Amino acid sequence: MGLLSEGSPLSWEKTKELSDHVRKHGIIQFINLYHRLKNRQGDVLKWGDEVEYIIVKFNHQKKIAQVSLRAQEILNKLQEKELLNPNGVKSLWRPEYSAYMIEGTPGKPYGGLLAHFNIVEANMRYRREEATELLNSDEVVMSLTSFPRLGCLNFTNPPYKPTPNQGASRSLFIPDETIFPGHPRFITLTRNIRLRRGEKVAINVPVFKDKNTKSPLTDDFEALCDESGESAKAAKPDHVYMDAMAFGMGCGCLQLTFQACNITEARMLYDQLTPLCPIMLALTAASPVHRGMLTDIDCRWSIISGSVDCRTREERGLEPLKKNKFQIPKSRYDSIDSYLSEQGEKFNDVPVIYDEKIYKQLREADIDHLLAQHISHLFIRDTVSLFSEKVDQDDMKDTDHFENIQSTNWQTMRFKPPPPNSTIGWRVEFRPCEVQLTDFENAAIVCFVVLLTRVILSYHLNFIIPISKVDENMTKAQKRDALKKELFWFRKDITTQVSPPHATAQCHSCSSESPELYTAMTIDHIINGKEGEFPGLIPLINSYLSVMDVDADTHCTIQQYLKLIQKRASGSLLTTASWIRNFVQTHPKYMKDSVVTDEINYDLLLTATKIQKGEITCPELHGHCTKMSKTQENIPEAVSKLYPCT
Ligand code: GLU
Ligand code: MG
Repeated sequence: MGLLSEGSPLSWEKTKELSDHVRKHGIIQFINLYHRLKNRQGDVLKWGDEVEYIIVKFNHQKKIAQVSLRAQEILNKLQEKELLNPNGVKSLWRPEYSAYMIEGTPGKPYGGLLAHFNIVEANMRYRREEATELLNSDEVVMSLTSFPRLGCLNFTNPPYKPTPNQGASRSLFIPDETIFPGHPRFITLTRNIRLRRGEKVAINVPVFKDKNTKSPLTDDFEALCDESGESAKAAKPDHVYMDAMAFGMGCGCLQLTFQACNITEARMLYDQLTPLCPIMLALTAASPVHRGMLTDIDCRWSIISGSVDCRTREERGLEPLKKNKFQIPKSRYDSIDSYLSEQGEKFNDVPVIYDEKIYKQLREADIDHLLAQHISHLFIRDTVSLFSEKVDQDDMKDTDHFENIQSTNWQTMRFKPPPPNSTIGWRVEFRPCEVQLTDFENAAIVCFVVLLTRVILSYHLNFIIPISKVDENMTKAQKRDALKKELFWFRKDITTQVSPPHATAQCHSCSSESPELYTAMTIDHIINGKEGEFPGLIPLINSYLSVMDVDADTHCTIQQYLKLIQKRASGSLLTTASWIRNFVQTHPKYMKDSVVTDEINYDLLLTATKIQKGEITCPELHGHCTKMSKTQENIPEAVSKLYPCT
């Protein structure tokens, strides 16, 4: 999660009073930066990954695993090297939402060489080892999307009690001590989102109904001290009910950022990667268990979306608009609503809610329709965290107010202008993927997506389908076993740059089906291709690689990664979510009641830890393609020549 300025957070009342101020100056700042940087050219393709980790503490006597709330302590030590030598470290560490999370990135971005694919995994391993060195012997850093028993009794170490009637979250399940204490942004966001919404966030995920699952499944709200009755009202029967930001923002993910050569290329990549978001979400699905229950979904997405949903009842369409300006269909964490490139424009078939006044101001400042629409759409949101030191700014130089709104629109893709006074160019961030247990899998996903961007650029591929279809795919992607069971809308002919005129006309008239342009496909077909019908993303990558000059070692690494993706897509290897599900359902102590007890959780995470460390193999997840390539074993010698900072 983007970290803004440090300082003293203002109260919600004061923040609310200043929401127009932030918007007003944020827009002026954007206009200034846009005109300063719109013609910036010639940046090279650079990219990097972000991995979010959860620190888990095992108690082997009692057979329990808890989240360890030591992130701040560990982070302080991890950041020491960077403080001493900001440009010379192999890894960068940042706080995340939870007091049990840390986020690591490579010290420097990777560049255009194919050989860089050969060092991604090594750098991930380096980060894991670096963090591991600072842990107690019973702790492990896990690249885990969701901690299965988050919000269950005594899930933290040290233990704390939730405070339903006071504090930032007022959760029945999550103590505020679970929120990262080292930066005021996180607790402030938690409080302000709840206050803006006018009630606690409410997340209801359908439970996975097994033979003995209690029905109707409900919580005992009286015992949970739900004095106001708010939770009892918000919870749906037969659902796992969650009432705090931590349930979502306390999940980990794998993100990628790309620098484009200029703004046009960034807008193009933003659009082309958008239809891949739901596909990659389904392919990386890794979070079937929440609040100690097996659920009917495999991904974190809808949970985070709900966990920061600050819309009021009016904005959610539950009451007529009186105090608020807009009815808003989505949370500030969700999939994007509009394409940004000319090619994408005609596929913007979902009405985009935007602030007309801001839109006009942007247009008058000579910003084109699509970008003006995008920015004025982001700016329908209020600031939900503001620091006193940052209220008054120099709009010619500063961009904090713009970043304030931009960085709290957590969408599948993020379009990022260059930061002030830096050598960084226009960038896009790819945000849907769930994080996998091993560095091998995470590196495979990262390399697959990066290779895809190169193929898109070299072959001028076009993946664009109507936004309404991307939205449908997002919903499908999260379902249990979506990878095997669902069909996803995908463009049939991805090699056409210009879509046929009749299809264009249909798309204008909205969500009309266009049998010519896109069709429902399995993820297997999308990734691996189907003879005579669809080339497949991996065959396209291979055709791209076949004309590139790539050394034997890198070639071998890339092929192992592609094999993993290929097998996951075809279903011959399990997704992480399916593997977790199977583990729980075949555990001798599992009562077929959907409950993931402390002991099952302990065994699951202990096994996952062993897989992560390579102590045991897991052919269901990896097949036999986990052998490291030579170069990776030889870090730093071989790689340091190539890339001094790895
Ligand atoms: N942890 C969040 C997720 O799983 C992302 C937070 C961030 O933007 O870094 O999507
Ligand atoms: Mg993050």
